[in-house]
Amino acid sequence: ISVDQPQNSRHPKGLWVLFGTEMWERFNFYGMRALLTLFMVNALMMKEADASIIYGGFLALCYLTPLLGGFVADRFLGNRYCIILGGVLMALGQILLFFSASIFSENLGMSNTLLWIGLGVIIFGNGFFKPNISSMVGSLYPKQEKSKLDSAFTIFYMGINIGAFLGQFICPFLGDVKVDGVRDIFAFKWGFLAASIAMVIGTLTFVLLKNRYVVTPEGRAIGGLPKNNTKDDFEEGEATSAKFTAKSLGIVVALFVGLFFIFQYLLVDKIGFTGMDAAGMIKGVIYPIIYASGISLAVLIVSDSALTKIERDRIFVIYIISFFVIFFWAAFEQAGSSLTFIADNQTDRNIFGWEMPPSMVQIFNGMFVVLLAVPFSMLWDKLRAKGKEPVSPFKQAIGLAVMALSYFIIAYNVKDLGSSGMLAIKWLILLYFIQTCGELCLSPIGLSLVGKLSPKRFSSLLYGVFFISNAAGYALAGTLGALLPATGDKFQKASELGINLQGVLDKSVALTPQMEKVLTDNQLPTHNP
Ligand code: GLN
Repeated sequence: ISVDQPQNSRHPKGLWVLFGTEMWERFNFYGMRALLTLFMVNALMMKEADASIIYGGFLALCYLTPLLGGFVADRFLGNRYCIILGGVLMALGQILLFFSASIFSENLGMSNTLLWIGLGVIIFGNGFFKPNISSMVGSLYPKQEKSKLDSAFTIFYMGINIGAFLGQFICPFLGDVKVDGVRDIFAFKWGFLAASIAMVIGTLTFVLLKNRYVVTPEGRAIGGLPKNNTKDDFEEGEATSAKFTAKSLGIVVALFVGLFFIFQYLLVDKIGFTGMDAAGMIKGVIYPIIYASGISLAVLIVSDSALTKIERDRIFVIYIISFFVIFFWAAFEQAGSSLTFIADNQTDRNIFGWEMPPSMVQIFNGMFVVLLAVPFSMLWDKLRAKGKEPVSPFKQAIGLAVMALSYFIIAYNVKDLGSSGMLAIKWLILLYFIQTCGELCLSPIGLSLVGKLSPKRFSSLLYGVFFISNAAGYALAGTLGALLPATGDKFQKASELGINLQGVLDKSVALTPQMEKVLTDNQLPTHNP
């Protein structure tokens, strides 16, 4: 490879390796996400509201751990090893979900335990994988080629969504199956297994191709161990955290503890989750941790006395953006919970005579991103050429408004449905179309805006704040999803049939033969598993 490669418009081959790796990783993540809540409700017999809370907490933690993954990469392992570690952990987590979904009918307790461990392992896997693969995309381009970054990230975002599309096709195809019109609750495991295999393929793609393609034009490894980095690697976007005084750390710890209790009080005592069941735990402990750590980190950064006025103003702009994206992701992430429950229980999912599995309906988001990402970036280019490109915060405002519009449409169409009416699938497809337009105005732009506004020494930490605001959005998504009136959970069905399911499960209610029949006819559990 020659040192003075000619300048051209082509992207380095390494981009395609990262594209492929991320594609398989998102296949695994979004494929699993499609099945997760339905698995919890139908196989593990959780209430829909609890499943929403757990789903929100899981996603939120997936966006808190990138702080750890970024830190470990910068200090100790480098991007490459973190990506491999993250990939292995995620594949392992999916296998644990596979086992959980294989044994629930014999040992519900063990199945629940495996679910928690599996989700925990995936949370850490995602934390090691996600920030590092994105930052490697940036590292592929030497200083004089940074202008290609926008187009590189558009391509990368396509990879993400091709993966999401494939995962949300294959995993529901294998895992969300009906036999004679009745859901086969033993099929979920095949979806999780497929997700695990996808992650193995992604990790192998990276392991086998990285030394050959993910290199500088001089052939030096990109994203290697930090001690092997030269000064050059740090020219752009270096994140040396400033030295904080003991005082500012003290303020932050006090703030964290204070905020934790305030959020804890608001979420647990005010809204009424008092039980220490899993969902109550997540609402009362995990959600406050997310909110409190985001605000504390934000205060920690802005209280650094070495900041100039301009730097501080820019940081406040990042905070304002971070605040508003919370509401975007809270609305967006209904895809895997309330919108999936609606697709499952209240939607006529016939498409040209084929009944689409409910967990597959969210596929339209990834599909529309793949179709629209390039047209959108061409649109921005065109407007820029005419000097009419909207400023980034305005694009984000459009994104938020468009997101709100998507829910007005669905709210209008469900308002007369009652408890037994059916929504036509075209409305959900339209919803995902509109949401995707919003996503393309807001998501890629937010990422690059944070990069542009951050003082170099705080860039990683400010990305951390931005990701935690995504996490806060997911936690809020859990809270909102739980507000959906239950239609599909087994406790709800049982109570409609006049049966106390909890009593049946803990055997405090004796089953009459009639009750037994009602339970079997409605696919409700008839014994303590
Ligand atoms: N769908 C995108 C991804 O998985 C964006 C998610 C986000 O930024 N919260 O990377």
